[in-house]
Amino acid sequence: MEEKKIPYKIYLKEDEIPRQWYNVRADMKKKPAPLVDPDTMKPITLDKLSQVFCRELAEQELDDTTPYIDIPEELIDFYKMYRPAPLVRAYCLEKELGTPAKIYYKFEGNNTSGSHKLNSAIAQAYYAKQQGLKGVTTETGAGQWGTALSMACSYFGLDCKVFMVKVSYEQKPHRREVMRTYGASVTPSPSMTTEVGRKIFEEHPGTGGSLGCAISEAVEAAMTSGGEYRYVLGSVLNQVLLHQTIIGLETKAALDKYGVKPDIIIGCAGGGSNLGGLISPFVGEMLRGEADYRIIAVEPASCPSLTRGKYVYDFCDTGKICPMAKMYTLGSGFIPSSSHAGGLRYHGMSSTLSELYDQGLMEARSVEQTSVFAAAVQFARVEGILPAPESSHAIRVAIDEAMKCKKTGEEKTIVFGLTGTGYFDMFAYERFNNGQMSDYIPTDEEIAKFAATLPEQPEL
Ligand SMILES: *Cc1c(COP(=O)(O)O)cnc(C)c1O
Repeated sequence: MEEKKIPYKIYLKEDEIPRQWYNVRADMKKKPAPLVDPDTMKPITLDKLSQVFCRELAEQELDDTTPYIDIPEELIDFYKMYRPAPLVRAYCLEKELGTPAKIYYKFEGNNTSGSHKLNSAIAQAYYAKQQGLKGVTTETGAGQWGTALSMACSYFGLDCKVFMVKVSYEQKPHRREVMRTYGASVTPSPSMTTEVGRKIFEEHPGTGGSLGCAISEAVEAAMTSGGEYRYVLGSVLNQVLLHQTIIGLETKAALDKYGVKPDIIIGCAGGGSNLGGLISPFVGEMLRGEADYRIIAVEPASCPSLTRGKYVYDFCDTGKICPMAKMYTLGSGFIPSSSHAGGLRYHGMSSTLSELYDQGLMEARSVEQTSVFAAAVQFARVEGILPAPESSHAIRVAIDEAMKCKKTGEEKTIVFGLTGTGYFDMFAYERFNNGQMSDYIPTDEEIAKFAATLPEQPEL
């Protein structure tokens, strides 16, 4: 049989792992709006931000001028456990669809935590260790971030306290046990262990919790630890997007090897870190006028921050302890219905992605979960990988775009981010397989109700 010119999987060599992260903000003429300190309503200072995050991470958070930042050697060694990640040519899916489109996906589910989140978890754990901290606190929704952080902390000998959104804690006991196996302590959120948790319980008895609320508890636990712990966050922040650029840099290196230039780049967007990481090197080319791409962010119709939110300053957490970020947001009080794509249930969006979207460099689309699972099943049956529900949002739109090509006969090259595997999401798959899954789209009234809780805007 004739060998294909482009292999099914493009693997880079270990010595081709990028040595630097790429900071796309350095190439943006109009920068994302600065983080604002809610106490002063002015841009937050490095000193103040260093009380919440490790010093080095606070610096990365605020740096919008340095284009390339060295990846510490210890991190490269860790990355080698599961990177470079393969870029897969989806020949089987193309055949199944009968499309002339050429489809590629970057697979980030090749590690025990099952998603791209380990890329930033290990970086954040490294800097915490460097700073001599005892440990870190965090929230987790679907559980991927908590799992990734547990792995990272155990590697560097740090203590790890995870506040897990209550519905996930109950629906995903195995996720919880993976975290505990790696030595983390896991508390369902809201909990009675923090002031903000007790308050949320009082106001919303019986709540299944939300990411924003779990963030508040994790921040409080760090702030009241006498400086021994720092809070770490798995998405939204500039620092996380920066660490995730390893995805896009590897993708670009693999495509360049074969002289392939994508037309459309697609990713799911919760807080925006995987998408931001995937697209950054490509957006950099767009910003420098070197190339042009269509970029599509995909979000759940149940939590549509880009497509139906407002572009304003908002709190990153329900407890309003974190600094404020200008972003597309549904309001930090937004508690979405229990959509199964837990990792996409966040009220806001990375301020960098928000700004790119506002400048028209990126499109956004929202999709309903039954159609997402239909795409997931179709993909799993031909490509083999059982995708995470979050990742399947990107699959949905990749298939939609490939089917458009089938109609028009265009041979477009589509690249999408396959952020993780769905082995811990079988509860959701079960509902889909049983025909019990329904779609939920918030009404305009509901969107307006939460938008009314947006904070007073700073005058900068
Ligand atoms: C967390 C998660 C996401 C969404 O987070 P982003 O920060 O938007 O990337 C997507 N896919 C998977 C598998 C996840 O675990």
